[in-house]
Amino acid sequence: MKKRSILSKILRAAAFVLAALVLLALVNFFPTFSLKTPGMQQLTGEYVTVFYETEQAAAEDVFSLAETRGGELADLLGLQQTKPVEIFIYDQQSVMQTKKYGLVAPLLHLDWYIGDNIGARVLLTSPANPGPAHTYEDNRTAALHELVHAYNSLLNPKMTYWVDNGLAGYLSGQKPSYPVATYAPLPTLEQTHVAGPLAPVTFANFSGYEYSYTYVEYLANAYGWDAVKSFAKDGDYQTAFGIDEASIYQSWTAFVKDAYSE
Ligand SMILES: [Zn+2]
Repeated sequence: MKKRSILSKILRAAAFVLAALVLLALVNFFPTFSLKTPGMQQLTGEYVTVFYETEQAAAEDVFSLAETRGGELADLLGLQQTKPVEIFIYDQQSVMQTKKYGLVAPLLHLDWYIGDNIGARVLLTSPANPGPAHTYEDNRTAALHELVHAYNSLLNPKMTYWVDNGLAGYLSGQKPSYPVATYAPLPTLEQTHVAGPLAPVTFANFSGYEYSYTYVEYLANAYGWDAVKSFAKDGDYQTAFGIDEASIYQSWTAFVKDAYSE
């Protein structure tokens, strides 16, 4: 009798903890249930539909850039775009961050985190309020970076985080502006396989944005864009480049040490 009552107390406590955790998760993810915020305006184009809050001029700037480059970027990736990609532009960086990771996101102080994608939908912090780590132009360019992610998610949902960001950085012209190989250790082959929910933070910590750019740059220089396009479709090194991933990694490290050191 006594045993049963202890057991039932434990079960009740466990149920209470579980309910509290579910409630916390629900509260945290509440902002992610709708990417639109109240009163958002809309710009409709051939390649993108832009939703924005009050920063109209910046939204129109992003819209015209994305409309100008959208078709060309889809072509470079070998994607037949069938409908416009939705881009949601938020006036505040903190609001953008809550749209993917919930209320907890702004508490992590990821100043560099200005844009993201959820499948084929793009989230962006308005260039008009670019956040402490970036400029107007950075956020404007980030729209193209995220547009490439959206295209990649349609082209090849199994694309690795490394290649996805390499293509996004390379095609949006985010060339590292400093000799990255002098300041940050080259990622190991293992690190280039970064995956999972913590990938964005791990990736940023080993200068993944800069290094993955140089990876795609190397592939394009050494094998030509048609090979990169074939690789983007299915991630098959042998078919695209006629060589395995480890050998590509070795040649890339030589390239990056040569091209990105002081
Ligand atoms: Zn990215």
